[in-house]
Amino acid sequence: MIIWDFNPYALALLATGIFSLILSVLLFFRWNSRDCVLLAFALLFTAEWNFFVGFESAVQNTEIKILFAKFSYFGVFNCLPLFLLFVLNYFGLRRLITYPRVALLWVIPIIVIILVATNENHNLIWSGYVTPPDSIFSTLVYHCGPLYWLGVGYIYFLISVMGVLLFLKYKRTQISTFKKQALIILLGVFPPLLANILYVFRIPALKYLDATPIGFFLTGLLLFIGLTKFRLLEIAPVARGMLFDDLTDGLIVIDMNHYLADINQSAKKYLKYPGEEWSGIPLSEGLIDIPGLEEAINNDVDFLIESTPDPDVTLQVEGKNISQSKVDQSGWLLAIRNISERKIQEKAEVERREFAEALRDVSIAVNSTLDLDEVLNRILASLFNVLPCNMANIVLIEDGIGRVKCFHGYLSPKEVDWIKSASFNVQEVPNMKMMIETGKPMFITDTRLVDFFSNPNVLSYMGSPIKVKDEVIGFLNLDSNKPNTYSSMEECERLQTFADLAGIAIENARLYEKMKESAIIDELTGINNRRNLLTIAEKEFERALRYQTPLSIIMLDIDNFKDINDTHGHIAGDIVLSRVGKTLSDFIRVMDIAGRYGGDEFCIVLPETNLKDADSAAHRLLEEFHKIEVPSINSTNYLQASMGVSTKDETTTSLEELLIRADDAMYKAKKNGRNQVASA
Ligand code: GH3
Ligand code: MG
Repeated sequence: MIIWDFNPYALALLATGIFSLILSVLLFFRWNSRDCVLLAFALLFTAEWNFFVGFESAVQNTEIKILFAKFSYFGVFNCLPLFLLFVLNYFGLRRLITYPRVALLWVIPIIVIILVATNENHNLIWSGYVTPPDSIFSTLVYHCGPLYWLGVGYIYFLISVMGVLLFLKYKRTQISTFKKQALIILLGVFPPLLANILYVFRIPALKYLDATPIGFFLTGLLLFIGLTKFRLLEIAPVARGMLFDDLTDGLIVIDMNHYLADINQSAKKYLKYPGEEWSGIPLSEGLIDIPGLEEAINNDVDFLIESTPDPDVTLQVEGKNISQSKVDQSGWLLAIRNISERKIQEKAEVERREFAEALRDVSIAVNSTLDLDEVLNRILASLFNVLPCNMANIVLIEDGIGRVKCFHGYLSPKEVDWIKSASFNVQEVPNMKMMIETGKPMFITDTRLVDFFSNPNVLSYMGSPIKVKDEVIGFLNLDSNKPNTYSSMEECERLQTFADLAGIAIENARLYEKMKESAIIDELTGINNRRNLLTIAEKEFERALRYQTPLSIIMLDIDNFKDINDTHGHIAGDIVLSRVGKTLSDFIRVMDIAGRYGGDEFCIVLPETNLKDADSAAHRLLEEFHKIEVPSINSTNYLQASMGVSTKDETTTSLEELLIRADDAMYKAKKNGRNQVASA
């Protein structure tokens, strides 16, 4: 027959047990972290302990009392190691928790539980039982057996370790909420400790009642306060999950000593060893090297820095000083975001802009200056801004031979000498040959992999043909002394844009040269036109006047030229005229000036030449003319001409006068039967 007496002590313990159970169930419902599970189990065993100590007090049968006491041991020796694990876990000392250690933690509890269960056989835990007359609620007092103190000592050991850890944690935590949490848990250690000391030392006032379970009730109460007031374990983990962990920015909390206090999920990728314990580790050891971060933190003001721990990675780190009321109690909240993608886009944007600007620059140059060298040099200089290279050059082809027209970038004096004088058959240079054939730009990522690049300073190459009306007239070449500099078609296309502009510039320059030439040179005969001849002749005349030096003029007109045109056609006539031009160019001295005066009439100005010499020159020229074959007219098949020679004398005051006299002399020669020289 079991007799129950639910005395106030028993009821208090049962209430405490229920409270612990509720707390435990609540925590199980929030099974979202290891902290919750550990504390839930710890409280479950606390509840079990409370219940059985409560039942032990309530039940009046001694054997059942002893049985319940045994059950209560099961609770107490399981809840304490779990409390310790919870403390280690919650305060970020997870790295201390290893399976062998956990097993070690339960060695003594298991021994004690077994010994308690089998106590009747050896009396090692309890040597006897007594209900002292001064006890209340017929409390059974257990006499201590030889191994009783093993259990008690172990409990004290666990509580002390917890106390020391919590105290250290409390001391080191600089962030106020965490500090208060640490304090609450720390305070939670004391009630059971105190109660147990009182019980173990058999303080008479307690009348043999063990208040230790009540002490744990207070522990539970303190945790409950923490739970509601500071949202310990409840709101904090949820909020952390939502606000902290779900953020894509890596968030890191460090304390004033720059130790890692907390990090979110995203921050793990910035850890040096993401799989390992980070909590309580110095920032410099836990976090990847972020250049500039340490200095920024040491400056003690909020900061926003950009750092490139890796050439391909750009991180933005924002640091907020979490200041507390006391100046020396502060930590930092660091937000790290990877802005590499943005940086790459920004860089591409800058490149695009630079390219557009360079292109505009060059276009302006192409349209505003006709100086080819200047334009080509401008193209090369602009290229340096938009494409990586050490040297750029432009090769122009003339009759299949390539020559470097201009270059930009550093070259050794030896290379400069080479490049200035180099000429090569473009068909024999494989890359150039290829560009002529395809008409397209090309690149060689690593020139060491092909056998036709001998310059050790050129390890990567990119080139584009320069085309005028679809004909390749040259090349725009880029060299780099680093392999793999050129590897994209996009760059190639950029180079081609510049090459196209170079083509336009070259064509413009050539047209301009032609235009300039045609303004002074007679196209058909290749000698001065009338206007230019007269301009130069005027200068020579004035010089001769001033220095009183001789000056002569030969005026000549082809004989019967019209007949050539009429008989053999205009083209045949043109051919004759061009031969006359060539003969004149070959015949005259460097200082002489020959020009086409009009139609089939030509004029030679001979500085420093008197009448006699001019006359003999005219005779010699006539002989040269006779060597020119022409389509036969009037049974002659060689060129004939009539020539008039005049020379400046004291009375001559103008060039015009001299020209008229030569012209007159020429007509005299015509009149006298043509194919002869007459002097004025
Ligand atoms: P003369 O001996 O009297 O000089 O007789 P000519 O036939 O040479 O007569 P003239 O000098 O008066 O005739 C010049 C001709 O040259 C007239 C014109 O048709 C021709 N002529 C002028 N310019 C050109 C040209 O650029 N090409 C050709 N094929 N013929 C030209
Ligand atoms: Mg004539």
